[in-house]
Amino acid sequence: MVKAVVGANWGDEGKGKITDMLAESADYIVRFQGGANAGHTIVNKYGKFALHTLPSGIFYEHTTSIIGNGVALDIPILCKEIQSIVEKGVPMPKILVSNRAQIVMPYHVLFDQYEEERLGKQSFGSTKSGIAPFYSDKYAKIGVQVSELFDEERLYEKIQGILEKKNVMLEHLYHKPALNVDELMETLREYREMIAPYVVDTSVVLGNAIKENKTILLEGQLGTLKDPDHGIYPMVTSSSTLAAYGAIGAGIPPYEIKQIVTVCKAYSSAVGAGAFVSEIFGEEADELRRRGGDGGEYGATTGRPRRMGWFDCVASKYGCRMQGTTDVAFTVLDVLGYLDEIPVCVGYEIDGEVTTDFPVTHLLEKAKPVFKVLPGWKCEIRGIKEYDKLPENCKKYVEFIEEQIGYPITMISNGPGRDDIIYRKQAE
Ligand code: GDP
Repeated sequence: MVKAVVGANWGDEGKGKITDMLAESADYIVRFQGGANAGHTIVNKYGKFALHTLPSGIFYEHTTSIIGNGVALDIPILCKEIQSIVEKGVPMPKILVSNRAQIVMPYHVLFDQYEEERLGKQSFGSTKSGIAPFYSDKYAKIGVQVSELFDEERLYEKIQGILEKKNVMLEHLYHKPALNVDELMETLREYREMIAPYVVDTSVVLGNAIKENKTILLEGQLGTLKDPDHGIYPMVTSSSTLAAYGAIGAGIPPYEIKQIVTVCKAYSSAVGAGAFVSEIFGEEADELRRRGGDGGEYGATTGRPRRMGWFDCVASKYGCRMQGTTDVAFTVLDVLGYLDEIPVCVGYEIDGEVTTDFPVTHLLEKAKPVFKVLPGWKCEIRGIKEYDKLPENCKKYVEFIEEQIGYPITMISNGPGRDDIIYRKQAE
């Protein structure tokens, strides 16, 4: 059985926690897209972790973690992350890396920094992890697959050709020093030594696992609105954030994905630039940011304050639809317990007309939120295990949102820990 855990919105919905929780009954956890640009925060018996590259199932001894072919693989970051969790007492995890995963090269990180510098005010708010230059090269067919590290002669020639182009850009567009092929080859030899123990054809491993009826979790990064096709282009990430891409980025048949758990946060947050219709500002936003998540809404990778907003039914309905949602996991509901009243964005007003359909970017930029205000429940809901024990207004909030988005909320997360979960309807 293959399940996907994906985000409905801009990312940071709490996918890490839900994956970590569902991983208890999984055999394989697969990262299928993205790179070290976003982070998942996980709290468990070993402590608090911000993972960037490793799948969130890494903390169980019975699971195998897979870095799929769709991932932007930053080898030093992966190895540092493995080392840092082992140092904190987590048993050495079983990790497999696809031989077809492509490598984030040192120059991808440089180009990301230089381009954001060049764009200045128009920059994308990139985390400067090299992701956009990496995927540009992948689709321009000058990327380097992990397997290529093992044929040095061929690699040397390829890198020489790549650097011819890169150096023109470095020197003439960015006015930075050129790169040297021998130095880069030395770095790539080090990369080869670091990654060699993990490299296999992961599609074979997963194909066999499917035959043996194992449980496979596909862990998405970011959310629908950051998808390059269906998101708020161009303020998106560079690889697909949709569950459908899980089949491609893991190398499995699309019809094997039977359950799609879409994670929605009980309010909104976003990082980076781009339209954010239900955004709030000032003291109202500061308070939600301070109280949000587990210790505040600040980027797991960059530490920068996240933009805050009320729950957006228009974006979330669309976000769930594009994911192909079977279950919604509704997270961080406990955070809203301080509010007397909770506004929810139920429509977008664009040129005088109200719509509940998520528009294309140039119309989205004109959209104004239409809010409906729901009463708060004014108490702590952490520790509650059954849906019926939640305060009446809290259940009304959940049910109102469920009706607006049109997908079943089967799990409610009321705290950062693995056990802070209320199963509502029977999720498989
Ligand atoms: P991800 O990238 O989607 O995994 O999201 P984040 O790493 O940004 O997770 C959101 C933050 O909220 C993390 O700090 C989690 O520990 C925390 N978190 C997840 N679920 C809950 C919840 O139900 N309640 C609270 N208070 N915090 C949560």
